[in-house]
Amino acid sequence: MMDKATREASRRAKMQARDDAGRFREERKRAKQQYKKIGAYPAKKINGQNIPYNSSGRVPAEMMAARLNQMNAEKGPLADLKRKAKKLIRRNPTPEEAAVWWEDPSCCDVEGIDDPNSDLFMTEDLRDPDSQKKIAVLAKTEKDQLKIRKDIESAFTSEQLKAMGCVTIVSTKDLGENAGATAFKTENRPSDMIYIDPECVNDKETVIHEAVHLSRLRDRSRGLLKRSVNKDRTGRTIEVTPVGRAAEEAATIIETKQRLKK
Ligand SMILES: [Zn+2]
Repeated sequence: MMDKATREASRRAKMQARDDAGRFREERKRAKQQYKKIGAYPAKKINGQNIPYNSSGRVPAEMMAARLNQMNAEKGPLADLKRKAKKLIRRNPTPEEAAVWWEDPSCCDVEGIDDPNSDLFMTEDLRDPDSQKKIAVLAKTEKDQLKIRKDIESAFTSEQLKAMGCVTIVSTKDLGENAGATAFKTENRPSDMIYIDPECVNDKETVIHEAVHLSRLRDRSRGLLKRSVNKDRTGRTIEVTPVGRAAEEAATIIETKQRLKK
């Protein structure tokens, strides 16, 4: 009689794809997965840097925002945000055009990202501009950007916002049926990301809900019961059971309601 482990191995082997000669197809699969993904986009390797690109072959603006935010957070605010750099890279660059900037954003400006007209970091009108200096917002309009910033300012204290760390908030239509989503920083994603459908920017609840997810993971000053147990500190999912996910969602909904009352 087969023991449990052997039976399981045999079952897996039966399910594994084989070529015409009956050999396992593993190798071919591995070759296909060799390219890296950055923030769920395929990436091109240029001068040792993995640079993401979208279906138009351009570096996605939100990934450049995340990269700038990451470098700001690691090296201190880049002094050149308000200053015109000698070299300006055009809006929506290709990975080749963006490569030198991706490696070191202080070398030059990308139009709309860190040139003097950039509005990724509009924090002047906030109660405490310092509390959001690691939060980049890529919204459709300046009004939307300010709305997002004021909403999170009203729901979290300055300390709580700082404890979230480096996050890039993006308003995008690519969410399917979801109003919002959160993607955590990993070695393949430059910063934590919060995505909001443009139509949900005004409901306030969507951005607070996603920010609560992030805060539950990143804010280490929280009590154990108010922390997410679904991810480890690198943002990797460590709890994938439906029960774990449902518990995290329920706790987030309750906390969001409380914060909306503030
Ligand atoms: Zn949620």
